[in-house]
Amino acid sequence: MDPVLVAHAAGDNCFEISGEFAPASIRDQMVRARLVVDRLIENGLLDNESLSLLVIGAGSTGLTAAIRAASLGVRTVVVSKDKPGFRLRRCLSRDVEPTLYDWPASHWPEARFPWAGETMPLTWEAMVASRIAIDWSNQLRAWRSKLGSLLDIRYSTTVKLAFSPSGSMRDDVEATFNSPTVTYATERFGAVVSCIGWGSESCEAISTPHAQSYRGFDFWDTDQFQGLNCGLSSQPNILISGGGDGALQDLIRILTRKSAAQAFALILDALRGHAGVLAAMTEEIREAEDIARRALSWNLHEKHDAMAFKRLEAAHIRAIAHLQGSAAWPSVDRAIKAMLIPSMPLIHLVHSKPYFAQCYPLNRFIGLLLIAVAAGEIRKPNTRVVRVVGKGHICEGKPRTCHGKAHDVSIRDAAGAITTTTYDVVILRHGLVGPKRFLPGKAVRVRQILPYCVQQ
Ligand SMILES: Cc1cc2nc3c(=O)[nH]c(=O)nc-3n(C[C@H](O)[C@H](O)[C@H](O)COP(=O)(O)OP(=O)(O)OC[C@H]3O[C@@H](n4cnc5c(N)ncnc54)[C@H](O)[C@@H]3O)c2cc1C
Repeated sequence: MDPVLVAHAAGDNCFEISGEFAPASIRDQMVRARLVVDRLIENGLLDNESLSLLVIGAGSTGLTAAIRAASLGVRTVVVSKDKPGFRLRRCLSRDVEPTLYDWPASHWPEARFPWAGETMPLTWEAMVASRIAIDWSNQLRAWRSKLGSLLDIRYSTTVKLAFSPSGSMRDDVEATFNSPTVTYATERFGAVVSCIGWGSESCEAISTPHAQSYRGFDFWDTDQFQGLNCGLSSQPNILISGGGDGALQDLIRILTRKSAAQAFALILDALRGHAGVLAAMTEEIREAEDIARRALSWNLHEKHDAMAFKRLEAAHIRAIAHLQGSAAWPSVDRAIKAMLIPSMPLIHLVHSKPYFAQCYPLNRFIGLLLIAVAAGEIRKPNTRVVRVVGKGHICEGKPRTCHGKAHDVSIRDAAGAITTTTYDVVILRHGLVGPKRFLPGKAVRVRQILPYCVQQ
């Protein structure tokens, strides 16, 4: 069977592109969507006659799959339990970048989807998240008028799939729709692709004695972390909890008041005239990332990851030491000090392992570089947040009402000792409470490196 279909198969004729794949950037998810659809058509599971496509989820992934299929002549139905709109729409504070996170692969500034040289159904460039969502909505409107009845999007609708008694899907899939306003007939589809996203984020901590929980900003909320004093009238004490992309991106945004892309551009600027140093540093990190990525592809998450992450982090720290020992360092050091916020707040990055978890190379590298240059002990490895209690107020689980208020945060170290410190800004980036699976079964290869090449 086609390797792309095998990697995403969640049952006969059912394919999964929801929140369990790594790497997981928006662009990666879109590429998976397009790849799966192309291979479904190539393998005869979809066609322009009777084998239609059902897509579950109308985010950027689901709509990429749907528009791609419909523009190739396959009748496509999309169902979304929510109203129209992309989740990025509500985020006015975070820049998003389509290809930056390919770094240090050499194609990162100009990577394109391979094989066809065509654009993706929903195009985008580096911008603030809400602006990207508006652009996608406009593009979607244009696609809908071009594709007509080939692209049938059913918002505020849920769907039930019929399973055969053995528990596997039938050769073609029967779907029954439920909408408060429209009555849809039961239909059969050649294939189903589930694109229901990443579920909810874990941004919450228990807050006793009130048994209420503290909730920090979601990744795609509009926050004030890039503002002066995180948008507060005086300098706050800041706690970030987590060792992955969410925590590192916010650390970078708070320490520099810039996005990772802007911070990286300034570092590259400082390396101008030091092409040899830049090439050696990039190569060192590229090799380490390549080794780690190969290991992680075959690891069992909890059992084998530690060694890969330990080595990877040591390699980044070595590359930073080499940079510090190079002729380029005075210029890079100056650039970093100029971008660091002028008066360093009390800022702690708490993470449960001795090393950072799975994250994009750029976040790991810039995070470690800033920590190496910034004054003060920022990083607290082997520690966990166990409780967040509002001081003089009761946390009601609403991030906006708690932002800037004092909180006593209890942190447990590796020996089990608990210390409590007061912070005004508390950011919890504890990963995802995965989406409730829609399809049965499990995609078989959740860690994948997608193929990219430079468009000619
Ligand atoms: C902490 C964090 C940091 C991230 N950082 C970045 C980053 O810096 N850059 C980047 O590119 N990506 C980043 N990502 C990844 C990015 O957020 C996701 O890849 C992307 O938003 C996924 O889009 P999607 O269309 O798959 O899902 P979503 O946008 O979540 O869309 C899912 C759709 O499915 C619908 N749906 C859900 N359940 C059902 C159901 N049962 N029936 C019908 N419809 C349903 C929803 O209504 C929604 O329309 C990050 C993610 C997290 C959590």
